[in-house]
Amino acid sequence: MTSPSIAVIGGGIVGLAVARELLHRRPGSAVVALEKEAAVGRHQTGHNSGVLHSGVYYQPGSLRARTCVAGATMLADFCRDHGVPVTVCGKVIVATRPDELPRLEELRRRGLANGVPGVSLIGPERLRELEPHVVGMAGLHVPGAAVVDFSAVARALAADIHDAGGEVRCGVEVTSIDTSGAATVLGTPGDSVRVDAAVICAGLQSDRLARLAGAPSTPRIVPFRGDWLALRPDRANLVRGLVYPVPEPGLPFLGVHATRGPDGRVLIGPNAVLALAREGYRRGAVDRRDLGELLAYPGLWRLLARHWRSGAAELLRDRSRRLLLRSLRRYLPEVTPDDLRPAGCGIRAQAVSPGGRLIDDFVLWSRPRLVAVRNAPSPAATAALAIAQLVADEVESVALR
Ligand SMILES: Cc1cc2nc3c(=O)[nH]c(=O)nc-3n(C[C@H](O)[C@H](O)[C@H](O)COP(=O)(O)OP(=O)(O)OC[C@H]3O[C@@H](n4cnc5c(N)ncnc54)[C@H](O)[C@@H]3O)c2cc1C
Repeated sequence: MTSPSIAVIGGGIVGLAVARELLHRRPGSAVVALEKEAAVGRHQTGHNSGVLHSGVYYQPGSLRARTCVAGATMLADFCRDHGVPVTVCGKVIVATRPDELPRLEELRRRGLANGVPGVSLIGPERLRELEPHVVGMAGLHVPGAAVVDFSAVARALAADIHDAGGEVRCGVEVTSIDTSGAATVLGTPGDSVRVDAAVICAGLQSDRLARLAGAPSTPRIVPFRGDWLALRPDRANLVRGLVYPVPEPGLPFLGVHATRGPDGRVLIGPNAVLALAREGYRRGAVDRRDLGELLAYPGLWRLLARHWRSGAAELLRDRSRRLLLRSLRRYLPEVTPDDLRPAGCGIRAQAVSPGGRLIDDFVLWSRPRLVAVRNAPSPAATAALAIAQLVADEVESVALR
């Protein structure tokens, strides 16, 4: 029996984790990861908050809950074995209003149900001990939460793929996918790649690649931009670890939070505003094709109708640092406008159903010769190694059948 050949489209953390998992399961098979940019991890993997999420937010039993808890442990082990620093700094989710207390309790319940170690509800005094500059009525303490540089993880995964006999080819954009014959043929501007099966892990472009392969055109990716501010270095002592508000119900975004990164910098944000360019990191960037497709998607209009209030609030916070500061100062009252500096942005690939629902769980779609990861929002970086196991299961049971 000859070993199968498999191509993974996308050199973000999910694609690389999938390529590595396939090589580990089937040593000797020809696995190649194709990445259109000049290096791995240039999009979501290289533009995120760097938090190894613990798993308190996710609906028990969901793919996110299952893979986040398992994936965080796997990723911490991987980092230890490959010399990528992981800083365990702990997290507090802070309630500042009485109406947030039931939601905090619900997060505690989810944390326990999901098997997150050490989760506990704390009062204002313990909150002050953990984070002396943070105020709140109550908090949820997650002691094991950690931060890591996911770009460094992506580079380590790529090195591991090479060591296992696989290939990571950067600067190769897949422009067509044909699964109609005996082999899957991927077109690129240079030549074509023939493989037994392909796996799409293309983040912000995942719906387009799925469509190229003849998969259903929905769910579509709607890009959400998130800008960060950073605390001035001499004010970074205001935050010791990770400080989050209680998230709004019904939205997958976590609210304006403060994150001390592995480099000691404290980031504030990101916010979540509809982006008019999937890969345009400049403020105000517009891509005609992205905008045209967005406006033509009924799911977007239904989403806007459903969430116009929180969407408008995000937009206002995006335009006004004063309003963003007001949200932040609910739990971090000592921050002043002068403490904040612009600190870059990221763009989230968020799948939206035709009915206008933000799909919060991970979504895989498979058929013979093809697996497509159609939604891999946060915490997919944390969960990448566990998601890779699910994808490899699909490759073995469906794509290579
Ligand atoms: C602002 C922000 C904050 C976040 N914070 C966190 C966090 O703290 N913790 C956490 O766990 N998660 C976080 N996330 C989510 C996390 O970053 C993503 O879920 C994860 O990186 C998804 O990885 P990916 O490999 O699917 O996508 P990506 O990293 O976007 O990779 C997809 C790759 O596919 C390539 N590609 C696309 N089209 C083609 C093509 N035609 N041919 C070849 N290659 C192609 C792209 O160039 C890209 O490199 C955050 C995300 C954002 C945006």
